[in-house]
Amino acid sequence: MKIGLIADPHSNLAALKAVLKDMPRVDRLICMGDLVGYAAEPNEVVELARAKRMQTVRGNHDHAAVTRDVQGFNPLAAQAALWTAEHLHKENLEYLSNLPTHLTLTCGGKRLYAVHGSPRDPLNEYIFPDIPNRVLAELFRDLDADIVMLGHSHMPMERVIFGKLVINPGGVGQPRDRDPRASYAILNLGKEVKASFHRVDYDVKLTAEKIETARLPSELATRLFLGW
Ligand code: ZN
Repeated sequence: MKIGLIADPHSNLAALKAVLKDMPRVDRLICMGDLVGYAAEPNEVVELARAKRMQTVRGNHDHAAVTRDVQGFNPLAAQAALWTAEHLHKENLEYLSNLPTHLTLTCGGKRLYAVHGSPRDPLNEYIFPDIPNRVLAELFRDLDADIVMLGHSHMPMERVIFGKLVINPGGVGQPRDRDPRASYAILNLGKEVKASFHRVDYDVKLTAEKIETARLPSELATRLFLGW
């Protein structure tokens, strides 16, 4: 059983398409949230996610697009979130408003848990790759899962705590680990559980131009070239 893991497409259609094209055949496709926000193609990204029957949890940017509540967002993120709310078609807004805060499923005999941020703060808490074991332990000790799948940090991560695999596939639409290529992961659930991480080139210039044309803050375009 093979599962494709992605997170944080952030309205970046070129990046999402490149990832889906590069990905081997998978039995399931799970997205850890933030379909929208930052870039200029929220409708196209939501529609592609729906067409691919991606199982998606709600991210803080999906939530902001629906509620227009941008408390806690930096000014650039807030501006993009309100632009997104303005431009999303009704049926796509409705789709986002129905996304669950987390997902639990059993696949290949393993219990999987997907969330954007963390179990105790599904939308907003960041779990970065350098999180100390002590904090990871606190977060996941009591969680009833074998595999925990995260988003939000836009950074690839793989850790094991109490025998639980904690994995973040990295960011599709706005990677933040200084590598501008779109990121995803494949989870292999066989006798052994194995994750592999993949990076894909995409047309950054095209996405950047669309951000500029939409008159979204130009910093949101330039950062894509830097992977930050
Ligand atoms: Zn995000």
